[in-house]
Amino acid sequence: MDYQHTIMAAAGDQAERSRHDAMRDNKGQYLLLVDGSVPLGNKGYSTISGQSNVDMLVESAKDAAAIVAIGTCASFGGIPKANPNPTGAVSVSNIITDKPIINVSGCPPLPIAITAVLAHYLTFNTLPALDSLNRPLAFFGDTIHDRCYRRPFFEQRKFAKSFDDEGAKNGWCLFELGCKGPETYNACATVKWNQGTSFPIESGHPCLGCSEPDFWDHGSFYQSLFPWERYKAKPGAGKGGPNH
Ligand code: SF4
Repeated sequence: MDYQHTIMAAAGDQAERSRHDAMRDNKGQYLLLVDGSVPLGNKGYSTISGQSNVDMLVESAKDAAAIVAIGTCASFGGIPKANPNPTGAVSVSNIITDKPIINVSGCPPLPIAITAVLAHYLTFNTLPALDSLNRPLAFFGDTIHDRCYRRPFFEQRKFAKSFDDEGAKNGWCLFELGCKGPETYNACATVKWNQGTSFPIESGHPCLGCSEPDFWDHGSFYQSLFPWERYKAKPGAGKGGPNH
């Protein structure tokens, strides 16, 4: 890594010189990793070394081979873009339209998904297979619901109704507490967090759907996605929810 403005030892002009040197020496070959959304409402809302985020993104993307948007903010605008979007925040793909972009969404994104994308590119010199939102299929090919260990309770209609009832204590499905797992593509249920220790549902909290676009504006985190009857009304929706 040639440049990371937060953790690199250099600062100020020296740091920016590193970025420009790296861009020149690796023209057309480097990967640009971007985190955070980009505020367009006023260029001064966010700057690095006196340069606005949008100007730095456009400049750094110009000679990149590809861009990896890390996190839901860079991928889809994230929380800054949530209504009423006071800073005019947009995603990387809203600005850069002439480069391959890989979205590793999640708030936060799974570390192993980031490293897997980089390892794939460094090993094969190609981009990994992507879904319709340009997320790596290896991690975003299934919903949380597809892989959730509480799924048998969902099928048996055994739902926790509150965070401290018998259902919650028995580890039943969190659908009626607002779980967004049926409509959320990510690998939390498979690779988990903190080196495989756990993930939100295993800790007793519904999935918030943080790797999907506009998740912050999809109503209450604690409201059911859809009435259970609606799920039943669509036979064959066994993989994921009724919207599949
Ligand atoms: S609704 Fe949520 S808790 Fe229930 S099975 Fe699906 S992902 Fe797991």
